[in-house]
Amino acid sequence: MTKDFDAVVLGSGIGGLNCGAFLAHAGMKVLVLEQHTKIGGYAHNFKRKKFTFESGVHSVPMSSDGTIMHLLRILGVESQVSTMELPSMYRFSTPTLSDSVPSRQDDITEFLLKYSNSREEVKALLESEKTFYDHICAPIFNFEKEYVPEDVRFVSKFHNRSCHDHITSLISNSHLQTALFAQWPYAGISPEKCGALYSFTMFLLHKREGSHFCKGGFSALANALSSVITNKGGVVLTKKTVSCLSVENSRVSHVQTSDGTQYRTSLVVSNINPYDLHTSLLPENARGKMVRRRLGNLNASISCVIVYMGMNSRFSSMISDTVNFWYESDNFETIYRKIEANDLSTINHLIMLRGLDEGDYPTLTLMYFVRTDMSNDWHTFKKVLAEKMVTKLEELYPGTKEMIELTEIGSPDTFAHYTKNFNGALYGFANVKDIYGEAKLPITTHLPNLFQTGHWGKPGGGIWNVMYNSYTASKIILNSFL
Ligand SMILES: Cc1cc2nc3c(=O)[nH]c(=O)nc-3n(C[C@H](O)[C@H](O)[C@H](O)COP(=O)(O)OP(=O)(O)OC[C@H]3O[C@@H](n4cnc5c(N)ncnc54)[C@H](O)[C@@H]3O)c2cc1C
Repeated sequence: MTKDFDAVVLGSGIGGLNCGAFLAHAGMKVLVLEQHTKIGGYAHNFKRKKFTFESGVHSVPMSSDGTIMHLLRILGVESQVSTMELPSMYRFSTPTLSDSVPSRQDDITEFLLKYSNSREEVKALLESEKTFYDHICAPIFNFEKEYVPEDVRFVSKFHNRSCHDHITSLISNSHLQTALFAQWPYAGISPEKCGALYSFTMFLLHKREGSHFCKGGFSALANALSSVITNKGGVVLTKKTVSCLSVENSRVSHVQTSDGTQYRTSLVVSNINPYDLHTSLLPENARGKMVRRRLGNLNASISCVIVYMGMNSRFSSMISDTVNFWYESDNFETIYRKIEANDLSTINHLIMLRGLDEGDYPTLTLMYFVRTDMSNDWHTFKKVLAEKMVTKLEELYPGTKEMIELTEIGSPDTFAHYTKNFNGALYGFANVKDIYGEAKLPITTHLPNLFQTGHWGKPGGGIWNVMYNSYTASKIILNSFL
């Protein structure tokens, strides 16, 4: 059977849905094909008995005057997404320092002044933040009038500049450096390896907009975007695995799903793992050599073992911050090297995420970064590691273990199974300092009607980045197709 659509989107992550929503908003008949039973990719929640868990996302900058709400407003669905502000941006604990970094702009400035050696340094940090904001974030608000490509001159200044180098060039107080570096799990890579542009932009967005959770979980965001597509006559299908693309005269002509259905289209947007797209899905004679070379030079970001725990109601008063990072050492580079070396001699970090919006059924989610090749039997090994993580939690918060009512454990295999992200990567490509400028995947491809969006593109992982990337993708597509 062949069915016609103006655009077919492969995958219903936030990137695919947001790009699809903007194409639908511009009048295209859009089809989204999703292999899982639910839409949203990493941004979805699931229920186990009386507990509802967020599969991953817990903190996104989403103030009413910020970028994401601006985009939802253009699409006419901002009323479908309500947010709750987190009590802090994150809490961190190292052997020498424990504190909460506040989530509100003025409180953060006070926090910086509390630790800093001089007002001048804080002023320089805030000025640097403003420059980043003006070049990277502010232009988006004018894209409806005129789309302007990224300022390459500004971006290229940060090629090979790490988060560590950027912060230490501005801030001399070692405690404040630690406090700022402690957010590195947001990037999934140590401050010395992580690109300054990526990490500093994330920090400034949380600082400006605050850190938020979606009421009803991040599925609410996916549902709002999906409703734009369906209300404009498009279709969003689940349990549809894309199995191959047909190419005629150097253009993708059909998308086929594993049940044998073919969809004819003049435009394809891929939101799926690029290794699948550029190897197994495209016919061999239509694969781009340059893209494949690029894929060979890039590394996927880290994965994790994740423990979702339903807690009894006494837990509610136990941990007050939503995002909590515990570290065995102040030296984050050493911690990350051990992760890279698959060294599990000690549990050297622990990410603890408290659920929000759960009433009487509180949840706690633990994450521990791992490489997928640490085990070839994750079904067994994830339980061993989860036990160590829960033991560490009990050490940090005595009494928590007996409050656990239900446990569900995920591994890199689980992430790969549910989202098909390569190696269970959490954030697309690793956010290393030397690849930001050019080496993440561009939105355009070697085929003129095939585009790609999502966290494997620029700026990288995270909901804000993916919304930015997919909105940009829609502008590039509409500029070339309408
Ligand atoms: C544990 C965890 C915690 C996180 N925490 C945060 C956070 O607090 N804040 C934040 O901003 N970000 C967070 N992130 C990152 C963020 O969730 C992701 O970067 C983002 O959601 C990725 O969106 P995406 O659109 O690129 O695609 P994905 O979410 O990867 O979606 C891709 C979709 O494509 C589908 N697909 C793949 N192959 C096929 C196929 N062949 N046929 C059909 N469909 C297919 C998949 O099933 C999936 O639905 C977290 C991620 C994880 C895993």
